[in-house]
Amino acid sequence: VENSKVIVAVRVRPFSNREKNENLLPVISMSGSETAVQNPATNQVYSFSYDFSFWSFDKCHPNFASQAMIYKTLAVPLLERAFEGYNTCLFAYGQTGSGKSYTMMGFDEDRGIIPRLCEDLFTQIAQMDKQQVTLYHLEMSFFEVYNEKIHDLLVFKAESGQKKQPLRVREHPVLGPYVEGLTVLVSHPDLYLLQSWLELGNKQRATAATVMNDKSSRSHSVFTLVMTQTKVKLVDEEQCDHRLTSRINLIDLAGSECCSTAQTTGERLKEGVSINKSLLTLGKVISALSKQSQNGKKTFIPYRESVLTWLLKESLGGNSQTAMIATVSPAASSTEETLSTLRYAKQACSIINIAKVNEDVNA
Ligand code: ADP
Ligand code: MG
Repeated sequence: VENSKVIVAVRVRPFSNREKNENLLPVISMSGSETAVQNPATNQVYSFSYDFSFWSFDKCHPNFASQAMIYKTLAVPLLERAFEGYNTCLFAYGQTGSGKSYTMMGFDEDRGIIPRLCEDLFTQIAQMDKQQVTLYHLEMSFFEVYNEKIHDLLVFKAESGQKKQPLRVREHPVLGPYVEGLTVLVSHPDLYLLQSWLELGNKQRATAATVMNDKSSRSHSVFTLVMTQTKVKLVDEEQCDHRLTSRINLIDLAGSECCSTAQTTGERLKEGVSINKSLLTLGKVISALSKQSQNGKKTFIPYRESVLTWLLKESLGGNSQTAMIATVSPAASSTEETLSTLRYAKQACSIINIAKVNEDVNA
């Protein structure tokens, strides 16, 4: 058992075409692990220090942070911990359009963290010493939380618009909260197959997004891998099966503006209320955990107030090695949202998790 701080990184993307037309300089600058924002209206400078500040604004910059570099810095250490038997979690937070999905999923040659991590995981499993680890078992699932309801992204939905029943969260007395009835693929280290499952999941997220306007910005997607390694150990000269289990959660959160934008009518109001619920509760949980670790007093953490925080209970303040990447736009027009993202990320910096190896020995 060991205490482990939540690792927090910030990433700034290039200007979009629309932002280029604003014809202004980026409001963000970075130096080492510091991120600074200069408010163009007041010239006031706000600066924040994180574990990492990733400059992805322009490729020609000497400190340019590529997809590969971000993967290596943030995700590789988590993968190493997963092989040691720890739970790990990485989530992306930020305004819609700031680069969360680009960072987590990416595209073809600009592959993001999820495909890179899967590929590395498969390669490492294939290379592992068969004498040391006698068996690997790998399970994969992919779902989204929208309107406080859970939808499986790995079940093919007909495009006729027929509604699929949402899935429920249940709580296992030992293993904690889980999604009941979720498709769990027993994955073989087959990259081609993996690619097709990721494509299906991404496509289903995107299809739903066009049908229901900006749904993808209001939904959270959760990609999970559960790896079990069986090793043979000698205990009192008896051969025992020694199992290490680790859960890897990779999460693309809803747009952070969903918390603040006033929602006005009907269906949108309903969406707004519940998106507020998961993201707002995440904010409350982060803030309560950060206070708790600063003053050392046990505080009530409202995990149960939303589906997302209930499911992420172990990843936040619990048994997990966790990292967060906050994505921001460089544009002056996003200054307010950017500052709010940076403050949110700053709070997460003080969260301490208690990570332990999930092991179990059977004669
Ligand atoms: P989000 O998921 O936060 O809403 P996206 O990841 O979809 O945002 O990014 C919005 C747009 O910006 C996309 O067209 C994406 O390709 C582009 N983009 C985001 N981050 C980067 C980056 N670091 N480098 C290049 N393009 C990026
Ligand atoms: Mg997205």
